[in-house]
Amino acid sequence: MNSSKLIQAPCRYSFSKEEARELAEQTLAKLEQHKVSANPIHFTLFFELLTSINPNIAEQVEHALKFNTYNDDSARVMFNALWNEIITHSLHSEEFSEIVDNLILYIDNWIKAAQNKSDKISTEVEQVSQLSTAQEMVDRLKSNVLPAIESYQSETHALQEHIQDSSAEIIRLKKELDKATAIAKTDELTNIPNRRGFNEIIAHAMKEANEKQSSFALLVLDIDYFKKVNDTYGHLVGDSILRYLAKSLHNETKGKDSIARIGGEEFVAILPSTSYDSALKLANTIREKIASRPLHVKNNANPITLTISIGVAMFQLNETLDSLFTRADKCLYMAKSNGRNRVYGEAEL
Ligand code: GH3
Ligand code: MG
Ligand code: MG
Repeated sequence: MNSSKLIQAPCRYSFSKEEARELAEQTLAKLEQHKVSANPIHFTLFFELLTSINPNIAEQVEHALKFNTYNDDSARVMFNALWNEIITHSLHSEEFSEIVDNLILYIDNWIKAAQNKSDKISTEVEQVSQLSTAQEMVDRLKSNVLPAIESYQSETHALQEHIQDSSAEIIRLKKELDKATAIAKTDELTNIPNRRGFNEIIAHAMKEANEKQSSFALLVLDIDYFKKVNDTYGHLVGDSILRYLAKSLHNETKGKDSIARIGGEEFVAILPSTSYDSALKLANTIREKIASRPLHVKNNANPITLTISIGVAMFQLNETLDSLFTRADKCLYMAKSNGRNRVYGEAEL
């Protein structure tokens, strides 16, 4: 058996020369269409978008383009996540493959050797039973049967040790893989789940709500005029504001609630067992708290008054993520176009 069938390193870009050229041309056209420069990061992400090799990354890029959040910063985050995944997965797959291959080979050999030994023991025992005196039987047992049994035992013991060592290696790799998978689902900047993490959390919330015939609230939050904050105070201040917002969201939510950063300055909160009115109330509390707290910037006399806009939608049984998300996003859009620093819920659509 060849274990590389079980765990396979991803062969990512296995296109023919012609296919690759055609895809490259389409990628350039798509970049042109979105007025994005064809640097290697953007090129790779648009290539992934066209080929959908990793549906998750393709979906992220598509979403960012659709909602105008695709820019150098968000592209950098997606690109890092992509390579992180490629590198960790292929490295681990190779290591896993090698261990499992070795183990399977060892067991195959052991089974063959064990069969021979067991046949040999049977033959010897058979011959012992044909001897006529007790002394002859004892002598033959000592000289032929016992050594065969001992050798069988010691090889079984060696196999046991080999399996134990391999298990320990596999457990170690599994822990590393779990760690890498957790990193891939976490936003580096704010240390809360990223879009990949969000997809997983919301899929779970939707499944549970469908099973229990219940609902949950989805809040989509976006910082108002964040570009201006970056332009005025610089990216580093912008980054600390993103961390501050993640922390504030974490503090304002609790229990089964989840938060995530799903784009540049876009966050979400998923609130299970929460009514529409309570979700609106919580959204307004978060919005007011953020707006009422001026943020002081080092060496700058004017504090920043940060505001956020929020859209709120409730999950409807058996609907798709896209349909739920579009409703929440429309509410967010209403909050933006009606002056920002506001909360809109789906009842107002
Ligand atoms: P609106 O009120 O309509 O949401 O305006 P906006 O300026 O917040 O929205 P826009 O989409 O025009 O700009 C979003 C900005 O978010 C642009 C980009 O520089 C910034 N941004 C995205 N990701 C990051 C990041 O990781 N760090 C920093 N500092 N800024 C980021
Ligand atoms: Mg914004
Ligand atoms: Mg935005």
